[in-house]
Amino acid sequence: MASSATRPDDAPARGLALDTIARVSPRPATRRTTTKSGVAPRTRCSACLLQPRLCVCRLIAPLALATRVLVLRHRKEVHKPTNTGRLAALCLSNAELRTFGGRDERFDDRGFFDPARRVLLLYPRADARELARDALDPRPVTLIVPDADWRRAQKLAQREPALAGVTPVRLEDGPPSAFRLRKHTDARYLSTFESVARALGVLEGEPVRAELERVFQVFVDRALYQRGQLAAELVTGGVPPLPERA
Ligand SMILES: [Zn+2]
Repeated sequence: MASSATRPDDAPARGLALDTIARVSPRPATRRTTTKSGVAPRTRCSACLLQPRLCVCRLIAPLALATRVLVLRHRKEVHKPTNTGRLAALCLSNAELRTFGGRDERFDDRGFFDPARRVLLLYPRADARELARDALDPRPVTLIVPDADWRRAQKLAQREPALAGVTPVRLEDGPPSAFRLRKHTDARYLSTFESVARALGVLEGEPVRAELERVFQVFVDRALYQRGQLAAELVTGGVPPLPERA
């Protein structure tokens, strides 16, 4: 369960080099959403879906990598604040979020196959081999990543005809998931963002994984703080101050 998941580093991660993440993104637009009670509307960033004060977008300098990441996000994930495929796309300039699962909607496989690229499906299907750089094939990779609950991801990876010809790859065993925003998840299974970060660690190098995981930890901590589930002093990089009143 997510609640029992241990963080790789249980200590409050103070002093992380957040200043290495340049402030490059303009302040994103916000949108009004309604709380569960339906009473008090509040504003959230339209990109990361955190409250404006806690928005992580300004901490993200999108990485320009050779690997193209194509996140196939199920339509049920689109509006969930806990969805992490959204955050992955914000962190990578060469990433695309594509929605699937619409009723009577044809699966959109445009651009899947490009002879100039090695196309891989990141999903631990029975025939998947461990992701590795291919010394014999120097082409950059297009990494297709299902972003859905396990049942829907499995259905997509195993039954979608458009993916039948794509080579499936899996990640080597690693530390448990540090994702703590959803109940009833198993720490053995990684969130979409963590999967992408680890895959890019293999394909692009460990500094890329480290940079992405740093953003992820800030996002998770701020989301937990927003819910009142994490003390301010334990939030990675600290909680941004309240704006001064005029
Ligand atoms: Zn944001």
